[in-house]
Amino acid sequence: MLIVPEREIADLMTRQAAFDAVEKVFAAMASDDAYNFPVVREAIGHEDALYGFKGGFDRGGLTLGLKAGGYWPNNLEKRGLINHQSTVFLFDPDTGKPSAMVGGNLLTALRTAAASSVSIKHLGRADAKVIGMIGAGHQAAFQLRAALEQRVYEKVVGWNYHPEMLPNIEKVANEAGIPFEAVELDGMTEADVIISITSAFAPSLLANHVSPGTHVACMGTDTRGKQEVEAALLAEAMVFTDEVAQSISIGEAQHAVAQGLIEASDVAQLGAVINGTNPGRTSDEQITLFDGTGVGLQDLAVAASVVDLAVQKGIAIKVDF
Ligand code: NAD
Repeated sequence: MLIVPEREIADLMTRQAAFDAVEKVFAAMASDDAYNFPVVREAIGHEDALYGFKGGFDRGGLTLGLKAGGYWPNNLEKRGLINHQSTVFLFDPDTGKPSAMVGGNLLTALRTAAASSVSIKHLGRADAKVIGMIGAGHQAAFQLRAALEQRVYEKVVGWNYHPEMLPNIEKVANEAGIPFEAVELDGMTEADVIISITSAFAPSLLANHVSPGTHVACMGTDTRGKQEVEAALLAEAMVFTDEVAQSISIGEAQHAVAQGLIEASDVAQLGAVINGTNPGRTSDEQITLFDGTGVGLQDLAVAASVVDLAVQKGIAIKVDF
């Protein structure tokens, strides 16, 4: 069995490798070559922690495994550790023997950012010039850094519920040499691409904040009750997701479906656009919306990719198990 510790991931994994892994596995999911197992998430009654598993099997890539982990809210204050903790375990699909154990913390941010980037590549207008960010927390910086590689942007506009956090994303724009402007939510009408990555339980982005032709990637809503955008926006938009079952139950589409504004059949897999079985955007006037809920196969795909890189560089730790 190979071990790739968390401390090695930053030097090994690239945004491009994460993008390629996620794009490929989304395509595999849409052609039924890969599927996710039901998610387990439990409040364990200790340290207020939420712990769970996300797993799946990609028959094409022969990637089998799970990500185990969750959220320990006291970690930072009590122990100086980050609150989100996860580890990916890969298994040999021919034998069931464990093949790798991989640090999953940084990989989670990279695979989440890769998902919105894949959606921008396939659904955003080619001439997109302004990108809007809603959210300025831990994930937001990863999201913006990856998205800036997808189009030739001229400006970043940003809004956050806690405006004092906006320098987190302004810094990313500055590093890329792109001007940043803090705006009110109606300033998002200027954006051709909008990424929303917050932990909100009520909509910030309303339908009238989004101009025709915009691509919106909703990345924060991954739990029942969370909501980032007005449900009416989903009724106006062409809606895509990583996995339909998650989108309508724990993703952004849960609200529009519950309110009867759209049906499950109105939500398409992004992988089908990648595969060419769904045309995706067909005009420059359409609003497209990607509901990125986060699936286990994304974690397995980036973990398998980083194991390959670790082997190539002689960094993977081999243990007899
Ligand atoms: P964080 O705590 O670092 O940042 C939270 C962000 O939400 C900040 O911008 C904060 O200002 C904003 N926010 C907090 N309360 C708000 C409110 N009431 N209204 C509007 N905005 C509010 O969190 P993070 O690690 O950046 O994660 C952000 C979200 O992304 C979380 O909901 C997390 O569960 C989700 N997430 C999704 C995936 C996925 O695959 N889709 C993966 C990882 C994280």
